[in-house]
Amino acid sequence: PKGRHADLLADLNPAQREAVTHAGAPLLVVAGAGSGKTRVLTRRIAYLLAERGAHPGQIMAITFTNKAAAEMRERVSELVGRRANAMWVSTFHSMCVRLLRREAKTLGMSSNFSIYDSDDTKRLITLVARDLDIDPKRYPARTLAIHISNLKNELVDAESAAGKAGNDLERRVAEVYAEYQRRLSLANAMDFDDLIMRSVELLQVFPDVAEHYRRRFRHVLVDEYQDTNHAQYTLVRELVGTEPTESGVEPAELCVVGDADQSIYAFRGATIRNIEEFERDFPNARTILLEQNYRSTQTILNAANEVISRNPNRRAKRLWTDSGDGEKIAGYVADNEHDEAAFIAGEIDALADRGEAHYSDVAVFYRTNNQSRVFEEIFIRLGLPYKVVGGVRFYERREVRDMLAYLRVIANPEDTVSLRRILNVPKRGIGDRAEAVVATHAERERISFNAALRDAVAGKVPLLNPRSAKAITGFVELLNGLQELAEEGAEVADILEAVLERTGYRAELEESDDPQDASRVENLTELVTVAREFTESAAELPPPDEDDAGVPEPGSLAAFLERVSLVADADSIPTPDGEEDEEEDDAGVVTLMTVHTAKGLEYPVVFCTGWEDGVFPHMRALGEPAELAEERRLAYVAITRARKRLYLSRAITRSAWGQPMTNPASRFIDEIPVDLVDWRREEPDSSQSSYGSPRAATTWGRRSFGGDSVQTRSIPPAPKKGWQNTIAMKLDVGDKVSHDKYGLGTVVESQGDGPRATATIDFGAAGKVKLMLIGSVPMVKL
Ligand code: ATP
Ligand code: MG
Repeated sequence: PKGRHADLLADLNPAQREAVTHAGAPLLVVAGAGSGKTRVLTRRIAYLLAERGAHPGQIMAITFTNKAAAEMRERVSELVGRRANAMWVSTFHSMCVRLLRREAKTLGMSSNFSIYDSDDTKRLITLVARDLDIDPKRYPARTLAIHISNLKNELVDAESAAGKAGNDLERRVAEVYAEYQRRLSLANAMDFDDLIMRSVELLQVFPDVAEHYRRRFRHVLVDEYQDTNHAQYTLVRELVGTEPTESGVEPAELCVVGDADQSIYAFRGATIRNIEEFERDFPNARTILLEQNYRSTQTILNAANEVISRNPNRRAKRLWTDSGDGEKIAGYVADNEHDEAAFIAGEIDALADRGEAHYSDVAVFYRTNNQSRVFEEIFIRLGLPYKVVGGVRFYERREVRDMLAYLRVIANPEDTVSLRRILNVPKRGIGDRAEAVVATHAERERISFNAALRDAVAGKVPLLNPRSAKAITGFVELLNGLQELAEEGAEVADILEAVLERTGYRAELEESDDPQDASRVENLTELVTVAREFTESAAELPPPDEDDAGVPEPGSLAAFLERVSLVADADSIPTPDGEEDEEEDDAGVVTLMTVHTAKGLEYPVVFCTGWEDGVFPHMRALGEPAELAEERRLAYVAITRARKRLYLSRAITRSAWGQPMTNPASRFIDEIPVDLVDWRREEPDSSQSSYGSPRAATTWGRRSFGGDSVQTRSIPPAPKKGWQNTIAMKLDVGDKVSHDKYGLGTVVESQGDGPRATATIDFGAAGKVKLMLIGSVPMVKL
């Protein structure tokens, strides 16, 4: 109908409208950040459904992260309602898992395959390399893993890798690659790169399968096309096809959008060649350019334009907006990372107090995941609600990985890496020697490790001593029991509970005196909660579409494992602190994440932190022009996430590997014209630095905790690993502080200066405390 048609196009500019309504030939939309590429993609889907008679089931949309996929599904269901469910909207990896589970039989696999993440992959490669007598000093597993991954991204299989190997490293890599693939297949497992490569293989080797999907998916749309690698490009091409099939199925319609300046995954083989050569790859292709930015203020765009213009070999384009200059960028030079975090927390609080931003409007970006800790600490202390996107770390914890390994073995008994991980966890008397004997038996008989374990139970592994055999029997019986439970259809959370109980894993942690073990118990409780919620939320999902054979039942163990496995490094998964809006009020929570994760997103208020040479740009990139260019694109991505307000901050010293490091300002700061930035605090003149000599700081630090600084109560010793201030703090009456132990306080008296500075601070309920201000004071000024 005419009315709806008009609605869908009304708030688009002419170029966007052209992209949305374009029909037929392959379409590439290239444009800078915030120019509406994703809007075009989403709107195009709605237009296809409303105006061009497409069914949701004919649409496949690919995004770069699960978070982006969720956002897109949400945006589309706002437009078309529940019908959105029949579309495939996902990341490349999720899409491939779905494809491979459905078509597992064709490839001679079983559909319950495990998905190995980079940690599993490294473990397996370590085992393989050891068995092949490869010197781990010369060729560490990490190096081998990177090379194998690169080969897979280029769609080079082990055999061709061996054929092409020109030096010792390449020969070793090819050798490991071949054996690694054999073991993966024995374990009924695939790594991340396999997901893409095997999907390509599926479509190339089985034309009827390819034709089936081409008939089904008449529209393929890809966001963030600049970050596709060769394998992903090939997958797209195989899906849509470039000419009619023998039985006359025309190529599907393809629409990809991207921005070469935002290519930030070269380290995973992404290549902007895919954008640059689009017109060559797809005959008759059409390219549409978008220029106007609708996201940010002109000030923010000017900063972004200036930074990215330093990159060589790029097509010049300048972002512009008609929404005005807006506010200046706010800059802050902190003494150290704690001071930086305190400034940011204070600023967020002030914005919220003044009603200028809700917590949910604010994002804090850092270059690498480990930088989040300082923010988390201060946010927790101040009671500022936040979430860390990229729940990877939760799933990287040892106890969580142990439990997931159990679940994976329950779902796929052949999963060798997981099986060997839990073989003696908790300790049950199956030592390294016994494991080696079983592994050797498996090798000799060319059977899986699981089959070898079962041989051990049957007494068919001669070198095994009886005690180990008995322990193995116990273990196999334990697994059998758990597998039965799963087959009876128990919920994931209940299976987890059974594992924790029957293995004695929880009891062991609970009996331990180590405080770390207490937090392990908490994490396991969290994991059970995650599983419980996973099943509950699945109950609300529509049933899977009928031809989705092999796809795990929503809420099932397999579905749970799939969800957890597909958390890429730069990606997110709901963790217990993930669901903001229900528990928090409308104000929501502040988002913390790496710049990589932030791609494609936007926030009214953005804090870009740690802009120091050696941090951002990353140490690795200094002196490496290609890597530096990628870091600069990353800086461009960071800046262009901001809609209204942008903050840039850096710390003069920052601890790295337990040592304070002094870093110069990021060169990217220098690339931003000075008149765009309002520096709230600049680097203090070194002659009047409040530091004192580092030596004095250490000496006084010890003294101050000797007891002589204490008047009203004793000061606890500095936490061993915690967060400390190693420099003197300048405090005036009325200043607000936050102390590790006493919480928030107000300075009521301040005396002396330099190494003798003290302050009396009113911590409210915790009373008044007089503190020395130099040394390891676990406190920050707010
Ligand atoms: P990125 O490169 O960061 O992924 P993008 O090109 O995908 O950015 P979008 O996220 O689609 O840009 O759009 C940026 C913002 O501008 C969004 O808030 C979007 O709703 C808005 N926007 C896009 N086009 C228009 C338009 N024609 N009128 C008003 N707002 C628009
Ligand atoms: Mg986008």
